Amino acid sequence: MNNSLEEQFRNATSEEQRAAVAGDINCPINVLDMILNHDVSPIVVRAAINNPSTPSDLAHIGQQRYPTLVGTFEERKPWHDLLKKSQTDVDRIEIAERTDCPVWLLEIMIKEDASATVVETAMNNPNTTDALKYIANSRIQELLRPDTSTLCPIPWNHLEVQQNGDLRVCCMCIYEPFGKLEKDGQMANIKNTTLDEARNLPMIKELRKSMINGEKHSMCKQCWDHEAVGLPSKRKSMLKIYGDEGWTLSDPDGTINTREFPLTYLDIRFGNLCNLACRSCGPSDSSLWVDDYLKLSGQETATMLYYNRKEYKITKINNKAEIITDPEDFTWYEQDKFWEEIDAHAKYIDRLYFTGGEPSINKTHFKLLEYLIEKGYSKHITLEYNSNMVAIPEKLYGWWEQFESVGIGCSIDGINEYANYIRPPSEWEVLEKNLDRMGYSGSEKVKASISTTISIYNIFHFLEITKWLLDKKYTNIDAVASFHMLEGPEYMNVQALPLETKELVIQEYEKFFDELEVNHSRKRSLFFRRAFSGILTHMMSKDLSDKLPKLKIATQKVDELRGQSLANTIPWLAKILENIG
Ligand code: SF4
Repeated sequence: MNNSLEEQFRNATSEEQRAAVAGDINCPINVLDMILNHDVSPIVVRAAINNPSTPSDLAHIGQQRYPTLVGTFEERKPWHDLLKKSQTDVDRIEIAERTDCPVWLLEIMIKEDASATVVETAMNNPNTTDALKYIANSRIQELLRPDTSTLCPIPWNHLEVQQNGDLRVCCMCIYEPFGKLEKDGQMANIKNTTLDEARNLPMIKELRKSMINGEKHSMCKQCWDHEAVGLPSKRKSMLKIYGDEGWTLSDPDGTINTREFPLTYLDIRFGNLCNLACRSCGPSDSSLWVDDYLKLSGQETATMLYYNRKEYKITKINNKAEIITDPEDFTWYEQDKFWEEIDAHAKYIDRLYFTGGEPSINKTHFKLLEYLIEKGYSKHITLEYNSNMVAIPEKLYGWWEQFESVGIGCSIDGINEYANYIRPPSEWEVLEKNLDRMGYSGSEKVKASISTTISIYNIFHFLEITKWLLDKKYTNIDAVASFHMLEGPEYMNVQALPLETKELVIQEYEKFFDELEVNHSRKRSLFFRRAFSGILTHMMSKDLSDKLPKLKIATQKVDELRGQSLANTIPWLAKILENIG
């Protein structure tokens, strides 16, 4: 009975439905607690106060909150809508700054917002009560407190199927042994290993065990490094979604019962078919790179080393460069065995991640979406993408509406001429048109962000991307880019810049923050300072300037091959490389 009331409350779509549960004598205490501390409807809170089952201390909390909630539904609705529509921290800061912002809305922001800057802004609003200021202070401290846990849900609920079918713990394991799973001394591959079997192979068990023991496994170094300098990490974003409770319930050696922990989050990369050949990419992730890779090698047959584990040979067949070692490695998804695995796991899946190759041109990706819609699983599944936005077929927009939600990371590393230079052969006019289609779609389900890979090529230019994005005022694309730092190849890492250039970068970013303060507000400037400070700390945390000669050679070779010019597109970097021997 209690469970069903809790479920009714969680599924309620109106104030009336919530009030009915709040007034039910069998309403569980945890639901009453939730209502009296957090619900913003006076009708619901009043029903919970009057419920004879409500303990007096909880009723007292409700009585204190009640006066702050009153106001007609018509008065409250526009504010609720405004908050609901706000896409980013900046939008919510603007709401929290408004002197007409009602105290009940400030209370929601203070108690629930995940951004310390939003909470701080709400705290400083003249309408905020002393009691709320007190709560705000402790929430700010809580939000800024470093996280000392070593847990991450990923080794418990997730697997990655790589472009060649190899199975991997997580795409963020970019240090040896790269999260690559092995079975009987060989790479565990979807062709020879079931997904359930993979989830208890030695490597993933070892990772779970180390997390339970409070250790920071070296394979996850990228997450730890990013968190240390204040950059976002996949671990933290996954903890926000899946929480940190329950993940330790495993055998001491890290074994899990795969029924207790079904695979809920799958990263599938259906081969390397791609329509771009980005400078930081290669033939394992992009089919368009295969020919260039062979040409750049200067040999008849080139060798491509896949995660230090498997060698693929590339050579010309019928005048076309092709991968000749196990070419069927890149077609595993056409086999029945893969679709049987999907059948077995689809009902548990709540999140799917698709990335390069390019999912928007991949027919197997389309086939999987159609399968999930047809079987009725789609409405419980969140789709996540990284897409280069070169060609998004209109039918995808229709399919996406059938899913619970869709998040697209638009891989945009530059605007105007930078777009084509870093991610050729993309053309900015086409990209912008496709971004506008997505950004102004008005869809309730499909939300996107600009996902910039910050490298040595675009470290200054990222500020131009940021300004362009703010000017666009998209409704369905976040106003702030969800950037990440390029780690490899090392010579393209921003840490390879000479010290004097790094200092110029800092000056430019400072200038940007100052301009925001003058042209917008101190809060907005503070927000961007906090959001971008990790970029600068990361850049300064290591000196890789000895890699600049490699950058010079690699850039020249690719420029020559593709008829591009660093001097024309990024003159400041060309000047630096001119003086490198
Ligand atoms: S800590 Fe980071 S690298 Fe390790 S499994 Fe979690 S998300 Fe992946």
